[in-house]
Amino acid sequence: MKVLVIGAHPSDPFPANAGTVINHVNRGDEVILMTLTYGEEVHTEHYLGKSRDELRKILRENSEKAAAVLGVNDYRFLDFGDTPLIATRENMLELGESIQDIRPDIIICSHYPFRETHYGHDHGEAARMLERVPSHRVHSGKEGHRPKAIWFSANEQSMNHPIYRSPDTYVDISDVIDQKIEACLHTWNPWACSSEKLKEIGPPLLRAVGMEQGRVVGVEYAESYESPWLKNNIVTHLGT
Ligand SMILES: [Zn+2]
Repeated sequence: MKVLVIGAHPSDPFPANAGTVINHVNRGDEVILMTLTYGEEVHTEHYLGKSRDELRKILRENSEKAAAVLGVNDYRFLDFGDTPLIATRENMLELGESIQDIRPDIIICSHYPFRETHYGHDHGEAARMLERVPSHRVHSGKEGHRPKAIWFSANEQSMNHPIYRSPDTYVDISDVIDQKIEACLHTWNPWACSSEKLKEIGPPLLRAVGMEQGRVVGVEYAESYESPWLKNNIVTHLGT
């Protein structure tokens, strides 16, 4: 199976999906990571003084190191610009064509398509772009492609919606939590702190979030998802 993981910023797939990615890699699936932006404006205060080119190089290298910890050597960078990420027609078509090129069986989005209350709005916007990306149409002579499922991550803390956090599927990551944490420490830094400080305060938070998800389904650590279009249910009337 071919799995495409898409996030708004290069570090996003690691706290949201690293355990799931490791499980897919371990069962022999092909996994490709893709970011919609370089994430130059997000949590990069600890790189102040570096040129834009230097910053982009660092962000890319750190992300590729983190991906390698998961056993993934294909991390693709789109360059839509972050904070704000904007779903222009050009960006939507480019995203669609990227999916047509890769032709994944499933797509995992690192985010949920709801209104976002902090971190700008890039995460919710990325998920909403994926909801309506025109990859199923012919563009530039490329055959359309419709993945069998799109999974939205439901463990993100930055969404604000009455029914937010109603995931229907949990991936058990108990056996790979240490590998997930190791990957996150290469690139994920929500506090924009030193790497020494990150090593101290990052792992407990990652464990706490994983435990919170795992508690719901009775495993030690989990990552949670929802796939609104996974099933075609045939019914005679709509119930509650
Ligand atoms: Zn992000």
